[in-house]
Amino acid sequence: MDKKKVEYFKKRLLAKQEELLRLVSKSEQDGREADEEATQDIADKASNSYTKEFLFHQSDENRRLLQFVSEALDRMKMGTYGQCSECEQEVQQKRLEAVPWARHCIECQEKQDQGLL
Ligand SMILES: [Zn+2]
Repeated sequence: MDKKKVEYFKKRLLAKQEELLRLVSKSEQDGREADEEATQDIADKASNSYTKEFLFHQSDENRRLLQFVSEALDRMKMGTYGQCSECEQEVQQKRLEAVPWARHCIECQEKQDQGLL
């Protein structure tokens, strides 16, 4: 992959990383606030634990994504960014456009989704 493209994807990855870090710390804060809010009756308690569960789930997703993004940035440093970690072919441009932190090319991702990898 040429340097210009790497720079372009790096910018997108860094922007995503920043956004995710903000979301993760925000949902942790919201979780704490949900804890601190005084709950008077059962209905309140139920909705409070629902909110917490939702926030935790959401921040799990964001953390996982954050992990993928930092791995992609690591691959950039090692010069293997844009290369499928399975078949070592170049990952399709349109796939990287959609998912800049993709580890697999479209074919290998499909195989993985089907549990073949
Ligand atoms: Zn592949």
